[in-house]
Amino acid sequence: MKRVILLGSTGSIGTQSLEVIRAQGYAVAGLAAHSNIDLLQRQIAAFHPAAVAVTDESAAVRLEARLAGTAGAPRVLKGAEGLRTLAAGQQADIVLNAVVGIAGLPATLAALEAGRDVALANKESLVTGGYLVTRAAEENGARLLPVDSEHSAIFQCLQDAYSAKSLKKILLTASGGPFFGRTKDQLADVTKADALRHPNWNMGAKITIDSATLMNKGLELIEAVWLFGLPPEKVQIVVQRQSIIHSMVQFSDNSVLAQLGVPDMRIPIQYALTWPLRGGAVAPELDFAHLGSITFDTADEATFRCLAACKKAIAKGGLAPCAANGANEEAVRLFLEDRIPFLKIGELVEGIVDREAYGGAYDITDVYECDRMARAYVLSHL
Ligand code: NDP
Ligand code: MG
Repeated sequence: MKRVILLGSTGSIGTQSLEVIRAQGYAVAGLAAHSNIDLLQRQIAAFHPAAVAVTDESAAVRLEARLAGTAGAPRVLKGAEGLRTLAAGQQADIVLNAVVGIAGLPATLAALEAGRDVALANKESLVTGGYLVTRAAEENGARLLPVDSEHSAIFQCLQDAYSAKSLKKILLTASGGPFFGRTKDQLADVTKADALRHPNWNMGAKITIDSATLMNKGLELIEAVWLFGLPPEKVQIVVQRQSIIHSMVQFSDNSVLAQLGVPDMRIPIQYALTWPLRGGAVAPELDFAHLGSITFDTADEATFRCLAACKKAIAKGGLAPCAANGANEEAVRLFLEDRIPFLKIGELVEGIVDREAYGGAYDITDVYECDRMARAYVLSHL
């Protein structure tokens, strides 16, 4: 029986991960949330973790008070440091990181530095600190197991070690989001509610906006470069509107393998947890009889500037992807507060990438400094 530490347990990936954990009969060694202690408390009662982390300090204190005197209550770790402590904690086989944003980076590093395998949903870890994360995995003999559906698909297609050596190209699929086919003019007035209506996936608010701007595909391109070691020009983005093909790989002989399935995150979550084995069905089977068609298109980078900006960022290297991510996190927050229009997100992300050279080596202090700088840039360019 595997023991799992689940970070971001109250989110979209977090709650689906608990369904998978329950179906597999795995044990939960730790849970972490930011401030939703009502849901976290229900999860504690259902899964009995030995420790929990709550990053919002006042919520952590309130949870501790609620649990006082309860038999078998978990230890409550507080703040960002508490999240790191939980991730590196002793008894677990794997840490599933489903925190949203750069807040997930220190926990990914802490888990890897403790020699622990990480099932990674938090793509921002690799985007902001890809060099540090991959180095920590290598130096400590720990594995990164992709949870993101596209990267899980690529990973699944590369399980044959002989073929994996001949990988030539990645075909990273994109749904195109709710605004596929629209012109800049047609995007000028779209609202938060329009952007939150994703055609195929039900996800947290931040990644749903990232899908509407195509920032998500830009982040995933960077994620793929770090996970699979191909240069960015060998990662081709293919719009696959139905989200049935989750990505493809092409080998030296131009043979292509794809992974297909219903758009349901429980499949890639489970694969990351059960790898190298496969578990039972957690999601319905793909019904080819009623599927109709699978279509392919190209992404419109001239309209969706976040994708173009991420391509520029990974080509620049160094901290450029971190800057793009920081600007995006801040811009998405402002868009969700109705303070900036939709197209302004792309403008701000591209603006920060174009501003500096960014290349070269970096350490964790540089990452946080760059993130702060990018957020400040956004706030001063409203
Ligand atoms: P949600 O917003 O639904 O959940 C985010 C989780 O992170 C919650 O548990 C939240 O706690 C916690 N959290 C928020 N802020 C902080 C913080 N500052 N420190 C620590 N924890 C925090 O996000 P999703 O589940 O949609 O996404 C999680 C990650 O997975 C993202 O990186 C996303 O890109 C990636 N991903 C998501 C997919 C999806 O289908 N949703 C698909 C592929 C990747 P609280 O509830 O208390 O606020
Ligand atoms: Mg994805």
